[in-house]
Amino acid sequence: LTHVATLETKSTCCYCGVGCGVIIESDGKQVTGVRGDPDHPANFGKLCSKGSNLHLSAKPLLQQQVRALYPELRSDRTQTRQRINWESCLDSMADQFATTIKEHGPDSVGFYISGQLLTEDYYVFNKLAKGLIGTNNIDSNSRLCMSSAVAGYKQTLGSDAPPCSYEDIDHTDLLFIAGSNTAFAHPILYRRIERARENNPHLKMIVVDPRRTDTARDADLHLAILPGTDVALFHGLLHLCLWEDYLNHDFIAEHTEGFAEFKKTVRDFTPAKVAQICGIKEQDLHLAAQWFGQAKAVLSLYCQGLNQSASGTAKNAALINLHLATGQIGKPGAGPFSLTGQPNAMGGREVGGMANLLSGHRDLNKPEHRAEVAALWGIDEVPAQPGKTAVELFEAVRLGEIKLLWIVCTNPAQSMPDQHLIREALLKAELVIVQEAYASTATVPYADILLPASTWSEKSGTVTNSERRISRVNGAISAPGEARHDWEIACQFAQKLALKLNKKSPDFSYAKPEEIWNEHRASTRRRDLDITGLSYDILQKQGPQQWPFPEGANQGKARLYEDHQFATSNGRARFINVAYSPTIEKTNPHYPFALNTGRLRDQWHGMSRTGTVAQLFAHAAEPVIEMAAQDMERRFIKDGDLVEVSNGRGMQRFIASASDSLQTGQTFVAMHWGEEFVSGETDQNRIGLGVNTLSNPAIDPDSKQPELKHSAIKITKA
Ligand code: SF4
Repeated sequence: LTHVATLETKSTCCYCGVGCGVIIESDGKQVTGVRGDPDHPANFGKLCSKGSNLHLSAKPLLQQQVRALYPELRSDRTQTRQRINWESCLDSMADQFATTIKEHGPDSVGFYISGQLLTEDYYVFNKLAKGLIGTNNIDSNSRLCMSSAVAGYKQTLGSDAPPCSYEDIDHTDLLFIAGSNTAFAHPILYRRIERARENNPHLKMIVVDPRRTDTARDADLHLAILPGTDVALFHGLLHLCLWEDYLNHDFIAEHTEGFAEFKKTVRDFTPAKVAQICGIKEQDLHLAAQWFGQAKAVLSLYCQGLNQSASGTAKNAALINLHLATGQIGKPGAGPFSLTGQPNAMGGREVGGMANLLSGHRDLNKPEHRAEVAALWGIDEVPAQPGKTAVELFEAVRLGEIKLLWIVCTNPAQSMPDQHLIREALLKAELVIVQEAYASTATVPYADILLPASTWSEKSGTVTNSERRISRVNGAISAPGEARHDWEIACQFAQKLALKLNKKSPDFSYAKPEEIWNEHRASTRRRDLDITGLSYDILQKQGPQQWPFPEGANQGKARLYEDHQFATSNGRARFINVAYSPTIEKTNPHYPFALNTGRLRDQWHGMSRTGTVAQLFAHAAEPVIEMAAQDMERRFIKDGDLVEVSNGRGMQRFIASASDSLQTGQTFVAMHWGEEFVSGETDQNRIGLGVNTLSNPAIDPDSKQPELKHSAIKITKA
């Protein structure tokens, strides 16, 4: 017997924005185990069910079955894709891009990338689109996740920077959790909440959520508001804080602006009116205002319940207003803390990998920022024309304005709202390139070119978690087949395209991710996220660090705004006078149910990875629509019945499941399942494209984030 030594590689979990440290165990060829990294400050060795099963999703046999292994190309859509070598594939892509750009201009191509990419991958794709091609048509699935949080922070505090740290949970008196089932979506962070509550019996927890989720069940007070009424609730709480004089007048006078105007708006949000809009008891509103107003330190945690809304920015701003009015920011245990959904939605924003952003938290609409980035990249200019954001991007493809679409590490044929329009767009595009680790996603059949990419345990770089903490991701084994790293594919393509376009190109000759990282670091100099002092070497020796970490610093910053100097032009935080707007679609006699969507505890996104691990189906084995038992009774629907769920956008069949977490008139479907077939994958057998058959593509006017959390539907027995 030959003994094979176990190799250990420190890395980061690839699933959620908690950003837990992991230790990958391998024999150098395959991953043999995974355990939590006891030294990582996000998780101190703990892992949730998804993280602790990561190694099972990396089994070699499985890799052969579900991974994209070789580049594939089809010359016309009546044919199946054929294997092709990398050189020929990239040449063909560069030819098609060059021809289309010459004929129709740079805005005739678009990129749809992902909050699952590493920061270094994100950086080069952004540079490819904006620096070489000259289009801002590059957006990310982070648009579906965090863009309302970004807009909320920027409007009020002046910068896309969550001001808090996980350790604030240990110092707070009141946890105000709004639109987040933290127990399911951020499980290891929730363990920290549980521990903090055990250690401090006086720590109160308010949960705002239309559903009685596992998080809401643990709350001292659950405000089960009607879907979409968050702004009215936050204004109502501020109204009572005004009335009861819980405000921090010195803080408002010295460190903010716009309060006088905003005060007029909240005066109208009387307890009776708010209770009626939100569907909650007046006494609960009073109690919540009292706890919020009297607590020494209030920490708000919020996520997609606020963000995935056509008034998501207003919801974020209204909650931040509440913190500003009570002075609950810039001190231990206090602040508005947006939880990131994806593992690296933060890193993507840091490098400007979205249609309205530029590297180093710069804004596309500022000429001086465009000039700075052009100088950094050694090019004449960065285009000023704003790019298309996610929903707009697919609409432009559908209308034929964008002809070539390159999709990287994401699955829009499942995750985007109003699936029929998205699929129409994918069919309309002249060329769809899908760069993916998994060949099994719903988007892959639309690919004219499939580029196999490496994934977790195979690739190296960095990610940033919810608390601004940057961690290293390290590869332990080689990628299977001919899969290449995402940044490599972008750089190799860019070098070929630059020759064909015959134009001045930024540099893409990186030999390793560290070189990209160092360029990104340099681009952050004197920006709010300055990480000029944070090298791979420091991350290796000192472990994960929070930004900012400028040159000369020996540690990052746990908490922002402790000096009450905000990132606005005059240093004052701004009250934003936001109006309350109800959901875009109202339930009505034709469509009497509200449909809410979200995550389950043990699955991730479209299940391309978690769906390969049998153990993770023990918690929820199949897609169901959860309904209130009274609603089912009234419609003669029994638990387990197949029902047809429809609205003007389409129909999807689900199994009905009675739930005591929902009020009458409300329903919930997990986002993880996509196309479902009754037997055999044929068009006739398809019973739907997943819950996003039904979801609403209406977008927030500021953040452009779609209203994935609310649609009006009807339900009939199948
Ligand atoms: Fe991974 Fe998130 Fe679970 Fe941590 S909490 S192990 S980051 S999925």
